[in-house]
Amino acid sequence: MELISVREARTEQAIGKSVELRGWVRTRRDSKAGFSFIEVNDGSCLGNIQVIADGKLENYETDVKGLTVGASLRVEGQVVASGGKGQATEVQATRVIAVGGADAESYPLQKKQHTLEKLREWAHLRPRTNTFGAVARVRNQICRSIHQFYQERGFLYVHTPIITASDCEGAGEMFQVTTLDLATIAKREMANIDYKFDFFDRPSYLTVSGQLEAETYACALGKVYTFGPTFRAENSNTSRHLAEFWMIEPEMAFFELPDNMQLAEDFLKRLFRDVLEHCQEDMAFFNERIDESKTLIERLQKIVNADFVRLSYTEAVDILLACDHKFDYPVKWGMDLQSEHERYLTEKHFDSPVILYNYPRIIKPFYMYCNDDGKTVRGMDVLVPGVGEIIGGSQREHRLDVLLERMAEMQLSADDYWWYVDLRRYGTVPHAGFGLGLERVIQFVTSMGNIRDVIPFPRTPGSCDF
Ligand code: ATP
Ligand code: MN
Repeated sequence: MELISVREARTEQAIGKSVELRGWVRTRRDSKAGFSFIEVNDGSCLGNIQVIADGKLENYETDVKGLTVGASLRVEGQVVASGGKGQATEVQATRVIAVGGADAESYPLQKKQHTLEKLREWAHLRPRTNTFGAVARVRNQICRSIHQFYQERGFLYVHTPIITASDCEGAGEMFQVTTLDLATIAKREMANIDYKFDFFDRPSYLTVSGQLEAETYACALGKVYTFGPTFRAENSNTSRHLAEFWMIEPEMAFFELPDNMQLAEDFLKRLFRDVLEHCQEDMAFFNERIDESKTLIERLQKIVNADFVRLSYTEAVDILLACDHKFDYPVKWGMDLQSEHERYLTEKHFDSPVILYNYPRIIKPFYMYCNDDGKTVRGMDVLVPGVGEIIGGSQREHRLDVLLERMAEMQLSADDYWWYVDLRRYGTVPHAGFGLGLERVIQFVTSMGNIRDVIPFPRTPGSCDF
């Protein structure tokens, strides 16, 4: 007897095998002829396996007929070809072992469909649904592809700190980390907190980006990437922001902006191609059941087979000024583009992923490479239809004098960033990198509308359940 997964049991190669399966009951149907059909799922794939439990099984009346939705069980039996629609195989049980029951009265995931909002309240049970099982498998495939993509190209996986005292120049609002007793501080009504008594003897925070630290490794090891949790305390209750999310940040020495754009495009296409190839059943589900126009797979296939549009910020502003679309925020050169402008470009105007580059220097952080025009920096964002910004990155300023000038202009202390400045002092080199939000890619490839539904336990303002 071989212990196999439902995914394996559903293939024709399994026919004739004597197997054991372990999983949970999705449905049970009793036939008048004195046997039962049990649909079993174990998370290995979207589809269930149909188990036929004969009335002659010794525990048929006592156990099999008590198997309700959500109960766990082990099944021993023979895989046979199935005459049923939509399934190649089924299992003729020789033994059914009920493991853990699920009270039919109180179990929330009965047959009826629940809304995604309702399922958020049951984050501990929602992975048992088709939608969240599929999201979990696609998320896993994307993570595997991320590592494969960089490892195949000789990038080193590095771990940047999660607790930090530098703020990556305001990439977002930060969560403070402290061991000071807030109750005591409140009681004493202290106006000034003495950080000498805090754990790190200075204010410290959860990281908003590992970029600055990743640069130090790129400037020693060439090509590196980070892949870890990232925290932003921005109070934006949108369908695209989480307080805790995962970010992938490659950083490359001897790389300039065009190399960076090419890497970003190749990287995204690899992720899309891999889910299309390796998650076919789940992707068909998203296409049919989640995507409004049922064109998800077709759109992704089109994207992997075409070049992304590359467009300078200035060209983008010209397009936005010339179009007859009414925007809430009027467009003007020098402004930070709003999501409505980004969406117009990628969805309406080009209907394609768009890489925007060369942004006005006044709206971008100090570390971006300054162009000779004195007005723009070599930043880049990748925008995709339906989601908007998915990647933000830049070529970094590697010239010591320009960097110091830029920091002074933005009233940043070179002493605070002494180690970052040192990289420009010793063996400086053009380098570049970007950050990809993991949950935004998952949203894009699944067409799930809300980012809270593509991470197991979402953290958002006012909500930290489970
Ligand atoms: P946005 O403008 O969408 O808030 P950003 O410009 O603040 O994003 P970056 O600092 O460029 O974001 O971060 C790099 C990437 O990380 C983004 O392109 C996005 O994919 C992802 N990201 C940023 N903030 C969040 C968030 N709060 N939740 C989930 N993903 C995020
Ligand atoms: Mn950005």
